[in-house]
Amino acid sequence: MATPLSAAAFLAALKAEGCKAVEYRSWRSHNRNHVGSWGPVNGVMIHHTVSSGEDNSVALCYNGHANLPGPLCHTVGGKSGKLYMVSAGRANHAGSGDDDVLRAVTNETALPADNEANTDGNSRFYGLEIVNLGNGKDQYPAVQYDAAVRWAAALCRAHGWGAGSVIGHKEWQPGKIDPYGPVEGRGSFDMTAFRRDVAERLKHPASWSAGSSNTTKPPAQQEEDPMAGFSKKDIYNAVWETDAVAAPADAPDIKTNKTWQPQSYLRSIYNSVVGLPKVLDALRKDVAALRADVANLKKES
Ligand SMILES: [Zn+2]
Repeated sequence: MATPLSAAAFLAALKAEGCKAVEYRSWRSHNRNHVGSWGPVNGVMIHHTVSSGEDNSVALCYNGHANLPGPLCHTVGGKSGKLYMVSAGRANHAGSGDDDVLRAVTNETALPADNEANTDGNSRFYGLEIVNLGNGKDQYPAVQYDAAVRWAAALCRAHGWGAGSVIGHKEWQPGKIDPYGPVEGRGSFDMTAFRRDVAERLKHPASWSAGSSNTTKPPAQQEEDPMAGFSKKDIYNAVWETDAVAAPADAPDIKTNKTWQPQSYLRSIYNSVVGLPKVLDALRKDVAALRADVANLKKES
């Protein structure tokens, strides 16, 4: 049992955990505190949105829909790995769930089956909605999964909880299946594995990144992963789409465009090389014709 974090403390915890947190609209004061209590809090809950598109999904979770007013969670986890803050108070995400599960979460003991819906979860749980169609085919990119683990670990760390305080919606409310679907490099979304990943993070400092750990390195180097949170697309853009290389001296627009993107060099080279076979063919024919001429001249002389 614990007093909920303030918006500032929530955000600070995420940033310390290496999360790319994005503040969305008036998230700090956007909540459902006028219809029920927020806190004491006992744990964190993971969901999938059943939606696609980062902007869409964030707006949906902030505003809610005809049958359920927003906010629909505290944070939305995009496929980019960004975490969008939509509330720091009571949110409509957990609904009614099983009091036996709440007891197990509070005591961090093994979870019983969720076969009752007799307890308000919205006052008790922080909620993360992960952008995913929830159809069992839509994949959670590794960077999105990692952000979810960091989000859960950050809240557990801030409250002094262990990974036993982390559950999926499917473990709380009968009939729910979220989170569900394949996780890149891991098989299907498994809350036991997710808790293991949170527990692993909690053994390390908040700034830790899996994969960069090397016990022979001094601690300062272990704690920093400069690539944490960058997607493949971010890295591609930084390498290939940045004006950084001196343009060729004979480029037609050299006066106005002094640096090129590396990808422009590749295109330019490709365009030159792609015409070469034709040129070579024509040359071969010319040489053959010359040979024939020379042979004829020899015969005549
Ligand atoms: Zn859910």
